[in-house]
Amino acid sequence: MDLGLPGRTGPVAVLGCGAWDSRLPDYRKSPARRSQFTRKICRRTRPRTLPAGNGFHITFRNMTNGRRSWDEQGSFGKESALRAMLPELRDLSPREHPFPNSAFVRQFDTMIVEPPTYLSALLDGIRIAGATIRVVEIRDRGVIQNLPEKLVFNCSGLGAKALFADEELTPVKGQLTILLPQPEVQYSVGQGDIYMLPRTDGILLGGTHEMGVWTLDPNLDKKQEILAQHKAFFDGFKNC
Ligand SMILES: Cc1cc2nc3c(=O)[nH]c(=O)nc-3n(C[C@H](O)[C@H](O)[C@H](O)COP(=O)(O)OP(=O)(O)OC[C@H]3O[C@@H](n4cnc5c(N)ncnc54)[C@H](O)[C@@H]3O)c2cc1C
Repeated sequence: MDLGLPGRTGPVAVLGCGAWDSRLPDYRKSPARRSQFTRKICRRTRPRTLPAGNGFHITFRNMTNGRRSWDEQGSFGKESALRAMLPELRDLSPREHPFPNSAFVRQFDTMIVEPPTYLSALLDGIRIAGATIRVVEIRDRGVIQNLPEKLVFNCSGLGAKALFADEELTPVKGQLTILLPQPEVQYSVGQGDIYMLPRTDGILLGGTHEMGVWTLDPNLDKKQEILAQHKAFFDGFKNC
């Protein structure tokens, strides 16, 4: 792929394009990795993502999230590595929220990216920048060594296990249950492991984490579990 960028001395190859893998939790636990995540990923990503604006259909939504307690250094904590990306963060008093079983409820604005629109706009942008896209299977490492490009970004995700004999890599399967679109739903909520995110193409309900599961087949038992958990959550709303 030739990015055609000014100052770029030669063509580059990007393998794969953009699932959770088993190492993300380790990144969160290690202070050094957390710092690397903040400095090298979050702070560089944000300014590039926000100006992407309308064509990419990235919107801010209000998120209300409930927990039995907060890890202030965790993802939605006040000392989170992502704190700068959580504008309008504030704790809600019990009178301000309807959540049934959460001692601590907090609200913030968060970005919602709609992959069908975003990925298509991204591909357009890449092509306009002069790059070419080839869909091929890289069968082994030797194929990479023989590429004409001298700079190669390896983004093969779980495919890296076979490609680079990476024995540590383990998938964590996540599944979304999607309800019909409801344009009137303009907020998102989460409590514990469950979350609801509204998109123009549907209402997303999660979340599941199946460690070591490779299959891409939907898990219908998990779907029923998620629907039941969300029903119990919303049915339990109190007046506020
Ligand atoms: C249910 C769920 C919800 C999620 N929600 C969010 C969210 O809200 N926000 C968020 O930021 N992230 C979310 N994620 C995580 C996000 O989807 C991943 O972090 C992201 O897709 C990882 O991108 P990647 O490029 O590293 O890997 P992948 O998306 O897995 O891409 C790897 C690509 O490489 C290709 N490939 C692999 N091996 C080869 C080979 N040998 N030859 C050729 N091609 C190969 C694959 O076909 C694939 O296209 C969610 C994940 C799940 C499962």
